[in-house]
Amino acid sequence: MIDPATIERIIEAANIVDVVSEFVTLKRRGVNHLGHCPFHNEKTPSFTVSQAKGIFKCFGCGKGGNAVNFIMELEQLSYPDALRWLAKKYHIEIAEKEESPEEKLLKDERESMMIVSSFAQKYFSRQLLEENEGRTVGLSYLRERGIRDDIIRKFELGYCPEGKDHFTREAQKQGYRMEFLEKTGLTIKRDDWVRDRFAGRVMFPIHNVAGRVIAFGGRIMTNDKNTAKYLNSPESDIYHKSKVLYGIFQAKRDIAKYDKCYLVEGYTDVLSFHQSGIENVVASSGTSLTVEQIRLIRRFTSNITIVYDGDDAGIKASLRGIDMVLEEGINVKVLPLPRGEDPDSFARSMSASELAAYIRGNETDFIKFKTQLLLEGIGNDPVLKARLINEIVRSISVIPDTITRTVYIKECSRILDVGEEILYAEIRRIKQRTSEEDVKREMQQVRLKTPATATLGKPVSSNPFELEEREILRILLKYFHVVIFQVEGDLPGELIPVTVGMMVLQELDGDGLRSSDPLVNQMIDIFEENLDDRSFDPVKYFINHTDPAISAFATDLLAEKYVESKRWRKSGAFIEDEGEILDTLVPRLIQEYKLKNLKAMLKDLEQKIHELTQRNEFEPIFDLQNQYINLKKVEKFLSEKLGNRIIN
Ligand SMILES: [Zn+2]
Repeated sequence: MIDPATIERIIEAANIVDVVSEFVTLKRRGVNHLGHCPFHNEKTPSFTVSQAKGIFKCFGCGKGGNAVNFIMELEQLSYPDALRWLAKKYHIEIAEKEESPEEKLLKDERESMMIVSSFAQKYFSRQLLEENEGRTVGLSYLRERGIRDDIIRKFELGYCPEGKDHFTREAQKQGYRMEFLEKTGLTIKRDDWVRDRFAGRVMFPIHNVAGRVIAFGGRIMTNDKNTAKYLNSPESDIYHKSKVLYGIFQAKRDIAKYDKCYLVEGYTDVLSFHQSGIENVVASSGTSLTVEQIRLIRRFTSNITIVYDGDDAGIKASLRGIDMVLEEGINVKVLPLPRGEDPDSFARSMSASELAAYIRGNETDFIKFKTQLLLEGIGNDPVLKARLINEIVRSISVIPDTITRTVYIKECSRILDVGEEILYAEIRRIKQRTSEEDVKREMQQVRLKTPATATLGKPVSSNPFELEEREILRILLKYFHVVIFQVEGDLPGELIPVTVGMMVLQELDGDGLRSSDPLVNQMIDIFEENLDDRSFDPVKYFINHTDPAISAFATDLLAEKYVESKRWRKSGAFIEDEGEILDTLVPRLIQEYKLKNLKAMLKDLEQKIHELTQRNEFEPIFDLQNQYINLKKVEKFLSEKLGNRIIN
């Protein structure tokens, strides 16, 4: 662990232009530096580095952040490892934080387990490539399956010899302790005997993201029907199988580069894809797909293509996978394989270019996939069709992003030939069954009908309040502690200063306004926590935040000028320095935001009332109508305050 003081020194020392220049040729452009983005292919440079702000920003692909983020992204390193990289560059000695005896013991234990695993991997590899048994049994099997030697080396495949305890004895002879052989599961020990867990198996080491071996999968070489074909290491302090993806270490660079990840089932599927030149592929091996695994992928991309075996079990697994991936806000596609094929056999049956062409031609949107699949054998049966619609709408309803949801509803409506209103109604019906909390969130979400404010050249956002929320955050970042006016206190003549931060947070809090974007809420919460801390420097804090999503977001806010200019045009005046008009700017900003929220709520209520009327359900309407009238009053009040300006 690196102690906070050292982290601060590293961040202070890191000169962004200096760091970026190690990888990108930069040219000076006014106050900034400009170069070709290392994260995406571009002909004209749009990668900008600001020496003064200590940040980089690509206006092509949107990547941005401080020096630490740059190294993390480019070298695909974790936060601490990126800090270590920078420390080395600037000759800063890292004082790793003093650990408690328990922490140290646990760390030492984990480290010892990784060291044993690494020894085992090397031992197994040597057996496979150099020893007689390994070559005749293991290597010939792999070659028979058409696996090339470069792939065998890349994935550090190996072989564990037959017999009771060849490996364990060798490990002990080399000084590795039984305790860790047992804890990693490489050796099975009972009172009076020990044996190798993987004896007689071809070994697939499982690496963590950083590339260290943490576990193994072993494939049996005999045809014994009573023994599992694959055996995996047991769960341990270093191996939690629900959090690990096979191949992630070998795939991460390409996943980030192509902004996409293929998801297959088994070890050999991963190998075959690599062999065909597709390296952005991982397997959920040894377990069905978990949320943790999806989140691991999300660190590198938000596009997943599920490649499933062309049999019923495979289809079932991928259907289940789809909903889980959707729920994490990731775009999902499916690559169906012909019946009877698995990714391994399929990839091996064709050339690399044929495989690439097949993928391009057959990758299917999940809606289409699910529909086609379920439509089989339904014909014109209305009951079955209703069930199908329900199935598909259920998948759509878990998508957190409203715009994506809208797009899918349209698609679904087209394919199934069902009106969009019916699908929306169905979604609401599904959601109504969930808890009251969910229903409340749905209220907010029915902002669906508000068209998104998509800005040219930026990814379409799901948040209709994005512009306003970004502006509020930007103002908080820049002027958090600035006093905008004073209010009278309890004592005679006492004046209490009100800062931008106090005013904004109090107003948002008072109305219980929350964003549909969790990142915005997270930042607001941090502002809230530090409201009274005069030493809190939001720019420094957020730019250097350990969560790359937050620091990238803050960078974005500070880097972009478009929000600012848009505002000025909107208010119809040109002002040199916004810092001088904060006392009018901030209240106006808040009121605009409130008003827009209000309008969305009103629209939502109108819609609800309309639906209830159509269904002749008059009882709940009265309540809603009362709410509606009250909100209308507030709307009028706010509009007047804003000088009757029309805001949409
Ligand atoms: Zn870029």
